[in-house]
Amino acid sequence: MIFKCKNCGGGMIYEAGKKSMYCPHCESTDSEYIVNEGSITVCGNCGAPITVGQFTSSDNCAHCGSSLVFNERIEGGYRPNLILPFTVNKDAAVEALNKEFDKRTFTPASFLSEKSLKNIRGMYVPFWLYDYQADYDFSGEGRKVRSWISGDTEYTETSYYNVIRQMKTDFDKVPADASNVMEDGEMDLMEPYTYEELMDFDPKYMSGFFGEVYNAGADELEERAKIKARSASEQLMQQSLSGYNSVTPHRKNLNLTRNGLNYALLPVWIYRYDYRGETYRFYVNGQTGKVVGKTPVSRLKLLLYGFTTLLSVSALAYLATEILEIL
Ligand SMILES: [Zn+2]
Ligand SMILES: [Zn+2]
Repeated sequence: MIFKCKNCGGGMIYEAGKKSMYCPHCESTDSEYIVNEGSITVCGNCGAPITVGQFTSSDNCAHCGSSLVFNERIEGGYRPNLILPFTVNKDAAVEALNKEFDKRTFTPASFLSEKSLKNIRGMYVPFWLYDYQADYDFSGEGRKVRSWISGDTEYTETSYYNVIRQMKTDFDKVPADASNVMEDGEMDLMEPYTYEELMDFDPKYMSGFFGEVYNAGADELEERAKIKARSASEQLMQQSLSGYNSVTPHRKNLNLTRNGLNYALLPVWIYRYDYRGETYRFYVNGQTGKVVGKTPVSRLKLLLYGFTTLLSVSALAYLATEILEIL
C-alpha cells in the first residue's frame, strides 16, 4: 500500500520529528491521505514490477522511489500487535552518530562524511515480547557475623538462619529480536526501549521506513527471553538476601510461566560503513537516540599518531616502534 496526500497526490511518509504523516512534495502535515493498495509484485504508485526480499514488509519502489508497505507482510499471522513509532528522525540519528564518534582519535576520515552517512536507514525490527510470571522458591542457610573487641580479646559471633523466600514476579514484555538483520546480542545493546509508548499497530508508521517480518517463530526464539527473565529474577532474589554476610542455597526452584505474547515492531537506524573490505555496523535507537557500534581503526591515522608520539616524547619511542612493526 501507498499513502497518498489528499492535497497533492504525492506519497506521504511518517515524519518522526513531527510525529505525524508528512508530504515531502507539498510539505503538508495536516492533509489527509488516501491508501492505494498495490501488491508485493507491483508498485501501488507507478505500476512497475517490483522484487521484494523474503522478509521485507516495507521498502521504496526502485523505479519511482515511493514508500511502499506490503499488505501481504502485515496481515494474518504477520500482523503486528504493537509498534513503537520512530521519534528520532534521520537528522537526529546522524547528529547522534556525530556526537558519539567525533571525539575518537583513530576513526577514518570518511566515517562521518556526508557521503557515507547517506547509507543510514531507518528500520522497524520485528520483536517477540513475552510476558512471564516467575515463581521462585528458595531456601538456604544464611549467616550473620558480628565481631567486637573487649580488652585483649577479639570475639566473633556467627548466627545461622534458615532462610526461606517465595517470590512471585510478573515480567512484562521481555524482548527477543526476531530478525537476522541484527546480529545476536546487538539488539540487546539497543535496550532499553520505553514500552509505555507502544501503540496499536497502524501501517502508516511504516511509510518511509524499511520493515521486516519475523524471521523465526515465538517458540523458537523464546529461550533468549527466558534467559533475561531468569537473570532478572536471580537479581531480585539476591537483593532480598542482602542482609546476610553469606547465604548457602539448599533449594532453588525458578519456574517461568508465559502468560502473554506480543509481536511488535521497534525502530532502529542502521548505518553500514564499508572500510578496507569490511562492513561495520552502527545502530541508533529510533526512540532514545542511544548509539551502539565500534568504529574501525584507521591505520593511516594510527601511523601518524605513532610518529607524533615518537618525535615529541622520547620515552614512548619503544611503544611507537612496536606499533609500526605490527603495521
Ligand atoms: Zn502533498
Ligand atoms: Zn513505483
